[in-house]
Amino acid sequence: MIGTSRCLTILGSTGSIGVNTLRVLADHPGRFSVHALTANRNSALLARQCREFSPRYAVLMDAEAATDLQQQLRKAGLGTEVLHGQEALASVASAPEVDTVMAAIVGGAGLVPTLAAASAGKKVLLANKESLVMAGELFMESARQSGAAILPIDSEHNAVFQCLPMNAQASFEQSHAVGFKKIVLTASGGPFRNLPAGQFAQVTPAQACAHPNWVMGRKISVDSATLVNKGLELIEASYLFAVPPALIEVVIHPQSIIHSLVYYRDGSVLAQMGNPDMRTPIAYGLAWPERISAGVELLDLVRTGQLEFQAPDLARFPGLALGRAAAEARGASPIVFNAANEMAVAAFLAGQLSFVQIPVIIAKTLERAVFPAPLTLSDVLQIDAGSRALSAEFIVKTVEKSAGTQP
Ligand code: NAD
Ligand code: MG
Repeated sequence: MIGTSRCLTILGSTGSIGVNTLRVLADHPGRFSVHALTANRNSALLARQCREFSPRYAVLMDAEAATDLQQQLRKAGLGTEVLHGQEALASVASAPEVDTVMAAIVGGAGLVPTLAAASAGKKVLLANKESLVMAGELFMESARQSGAAILPIDSEHNAVFQCLPMNAQASFEQSHAVGFKKIVLTASGGPFRNLPAGQFAQVTPAQACAHPNWVMGRKISVDSATLVNKGLELIEASYLFAVPPALIEVVIHPQSIIHSLVYYRDGSVLAQMGNPDMRTPIAYGLAWPERISAGVELLDLVRTGQLEFQAPDLARFPGLALGRAAAEARGASPIVFNAANEMAVAAFLAGQLSFVQIPVIIAKTLERAVFPAPLTLSDVLQIDAGSRALSAEFIVKTVEKSAGTQP
């Protein structure tokens, strides 16, 4: 659509994906207009973003932060209207004048507004993988009914999307008909790829958040360090591309140059490559089906030199095996897996749990949770809340136990 400006809402504009999205927009003045920017409570950054991009609305989850933002914008003489709360998020994600929604809230909090965008038939740039993990079938079905295009921003899924001939949202039968064999998701292996098993218990939040190849929010950084992220991505891919988990493999590729691959019947393997920079999948999603510059340095193969691959070590990284089990079990399991992980990661980041206890909490919650398969959004939210309560109990017990064993 060269020449016409696309109207965009960015859910989670103050996060790592949100900020990178705005960097791409800034490189293409006039091509996009911003309907709304949203954040949890970072009013200072949201105010700066409003001054630069003049959105019609700015939404904060936190009411106090919203009052603060309102004062800042009034002082600056800006006409942006400030709203707050969950309903406002869903409303700016589904407003009639919006054609594209960047879904970049972290965690289950992104589900309701992201689903609102999909139900309203928007082009959804999906970074918030947790919403698909939690409500995969409902989400894809509502996109089918509304005609929404779901463009994956997660680098692996964006790569697969680019390597599939009919560009995702195809049924498994359609993929099979064109000779599809399997998907291989690559994983960097995170900061502890080579850490001996005995040293995992001492890992600190700062070490877990220092990813070798990507700069990301804290939650996804910890997920990458435990490989739970790859478990979430396996579930995400199975819903997004309608492929059974058994046909999705994971390979460790420390350089993060090949972002993922699709294998075909005739022996062809299509891979999408590039320097690890989220602006590439973001720009791809923003301009699809065209391509625009992302401001990313082009890949220099000779300078890169070597690409390495290894099988993942499921003994040191049980989070990946748990994710695969949840993907295969379907029903409520992906919701339980995601909720328990969010709770355990928050407790780890707060210094209450050790790094090795994250997969233990997930495993216990999956083992104990008994929920019927969800049929509606309200079922999904209830299973999510029930799983969080269950894992909170396990976290409290674990914390008490370790306090009891300390001298
Ligand atoms: P982040 O923590 O940097 O940013 C999260 C954003 O969500 C912020 O704007 C924050 O204000 C907002 N937010 C947080 N809690 C909220 C709540 N309760 N309600 C409303 N808004 C809330 O996270 P990120 O790294 O940008 O990741 C965002 C999403 O993208 C995640 O789902 C992540 O898995 C996915 N993703 C990120 C990357 C990456 O490189 N950062 C790569 C692939 C996928
Ligand atoms: Mg990813």
